[in-house]
Amino acid sequence: GSTAIVVVGMAGSGKTTFMQRINSHLHSKKEPPYVMNLDPAVLNVPFTPNIDIRDSVNYKEVMKAYSLGPNGGILTSLNLFATKIDQILDLLEKRTTADPEKPNSKPITSILVDTPGQIEVFVWSASGAILLDSLASTFPTVIAYMIDTPRTASTSTFMSNMLYACSILYKTKLPMILVFNKTDVKGAEFAKEWMTNFEAFQAALREEEELGSFGGMEGGTSGIGGGSGYMGSLLNSMSLMLEEFYSHLSVVGVSSMTGAGIEEFFEAVGEKTEEFNRDYKPELERKR
Ligand code: GDP
Ligand code: MG
Repeated sequence: GSTAIVVVGMAGSGKTTFMQRINSHLHSKKEPPYVMNLDPAVLNVPFTPNIDIRDSVNYKEVMKAYSLGPNGGILTSLNLFATKIDQILDLLEKRTTADPEKPNSKPITSILVDTPGQIEVFVWSASGAILLDSLASTFPTVIAYMIDTPRTASTSTFMSNMLYACSILYKTKLPMILVFNKTDVKGAEFAKEWMTNFEAFQAALREEEELGSFGGMEGGTSGIGGGSGYMGSLLNSMSLMLEEFYSHLSVVGVSSMTGAGIEEFFEAVGEKTEEFNRDYKPELERKR
């Protein structure tokens, strides 16, 4: 069957560049994907989408017609688009099943979905949920959460990024791959280390605290490493929660610029597809 890969992440994390990279990777393997752009506000899409939200809604016109700001414009565009999800699923189902009348056309094995730069508009809106649920009720669906690795190298940005990813995992209830992007600028080893070894994360915290770069955390921080004091106990209990969260994730480092790590990404997609079919699908069907 086909897997839907939904790419989410903060603006600038590299979603669109990553889409372009995995798209060309699949083309070179003669497994062309079905590509959807759900970002109504994007100016240039560096790949050719099969479905483009911009073909059915004009974001600028929507903003004018309803007197909306940029985020409201994106949200309303998504809402308008979500009303057409049935047509889209019909299209997708046709392209992902073999057509007996065209024995030479291979069914599509991946569906790639690019989402708006404003992550919250997609993840926390009703129409975002409708789009995701519709996809997931038809195809194994995995979330690729993009992270701007060079910008998440401090312990505080790392922690907030992980907590955000965690909230998205619980909101979407879909298998997730953490994609540490831009490894051509900074490798993802530090992140993998922090995710598997909390001692290492605490040591990094302590180091940053000594350098005075752990912004905004004054007072009571003396116990960070030892587990005493407010920050210490907060971090220790957070570590238990994050450990549980991390155990559900696949983690890969990639460079969308150079293509490094893309094979590993697709291995992770394979694992998460199996996990979807084994753990998530029965749950989804039980709810319906
Ligand atoms: P989006 O807002 O998440 O869709 O992010 P874009 O794909 O538009 O990328 C944001 C910026 O990051 C652009 O300037 C890209 O050229 C840059 N970028 C994306 N991926 C990489 C990467 O792997 N390495 C480097 N060095 N830059 C990247
Ligand atoms: Mg983009």
